[in-house]
Amino acid sequence: LVNPSVLTQPVYEPGRPIEDVARELGLDPNGIIKLASNENPLGASPKAIEAMKAALEDCELYPDGGCVALRDALAAHHGVDAAQLVVGNGSNELLELLGHVFLRPGDEAVMGAPAFIVYKLVTLLFGATPVEVPLVDHVHDLAAMERAITERTRIVFLACPNNPTGTLNPAEEVRAWIERLPQHVVVVLDEAYAEYLDPVPDWTDLLTGDRAVVVLRTFSKIYGLAGLRVGYALTSLEMASMLQRVRQPFNVNTIGQVGAMAALADEAWVARCREANRAGGEQLMAGLAAAGLEYVPSAANFLLVKVGDGARCYTELQRAGVIVRPLGPYQLPEWVRVTIGTEEQNARLLEALRQTARSS
Ligand code: PMP
Repeated sequence: LVNPSVLTQPVYEPGRPIEDVARELGLDPNGIIKLASNENPLGASPKAIEAMKAALEDCELYPDGGCVALRDALAAHHGVDAAQLVVGNGSNELLELLGHVFLRPGDEAVMGAPAFIVYKLVTLLFGATPVEVPLVDHVHDLAAMERAITERTRIVFLACPNNPTGTLNPAEEVRAWIERLPQHVVVVLDEAYAEYLDPVPDWTDLLTGDRAVVVLRTFSKIYGLAGLRVGYALTSLEMASMLQRVRQPFNVNTIGQVGAMAALADEAWVARCREANRAGGEQLMAGLAAAGLEYVPSAANFLLVKVGDGARCYTELQRAGVIVRPLGPYQLPEWVRVTIGTEEQNARLLEALRQTARSS
């Protein structure tokens, strides 16, 4: 009776919540740090928190299903028409909406391997076939992805920067690649970490051209609102209207909409978070190099670190009160992925990594 796609569907394994680890290991949750899900260690803008507290008064009403005010603010921010924007319950929901619109059994979707795992999960969920193209030196191989496209390909997913590697294909190469791709494929440029880049890429001119391009952004990373679940798609009017048809009527809650709007407006906070991430990245890379640990230089707010036995390192770090991400599901058993934290968190991670390396 059950849809066979559901029975074969792999389960997404998120970074473990602090409370969960504290309970299992009998640790004080206040002494645990989570560097597992690329969240912002400085948190959301204080102005966003204030706005969200005030919005709690209005929760007896349904949210604005169309996210009108947030889409207007995003339209002004990006210089596009508000009708080119679709807001989702995190960019994860938008990935699923893309599946609803474009993927059927027999279709194919091209993606890097390893890339963000949800591309594969969504493709399988809709009974379509994931075509995984290996990265070369941890970077998306654009030419090989292009060669992997067939008549059956509906979507090509490209994460810029990529998760879990943190690597970035140069914007000019991505642009030339998009222009070369056959017109029957939808290009999904997943830019969850774009605000960490300098300059932040701008694809708005491509959205109204003859290629079907969807750019995904999120409030979960630099804006520090991962717990609120707000992401958005920038695309053409036609594609946006299709995505709007398949979303739930009230997919984004009131607090999330209000928080996202205030977070977007607080540019000084975003700049501060970008700078803290740059400094934290340098601190971590210097510490890793001094400890003789290999890492992949990252354009985002996390680093891939080669530790030998990733599963063992993950367990030992957890015992030391530091939650990171093991990469078994990404077929990277020798690596762990660590979020760039505050200066203090980074120092703690480095010390715990040194202890783990010593005991192995
Ligand atoms: N895309 C990429 C590349 C990501 O790393 C993530 C979060 N880990 C997402 C999308 C999903 O983000 P969210 O649903 O929180 O917006």
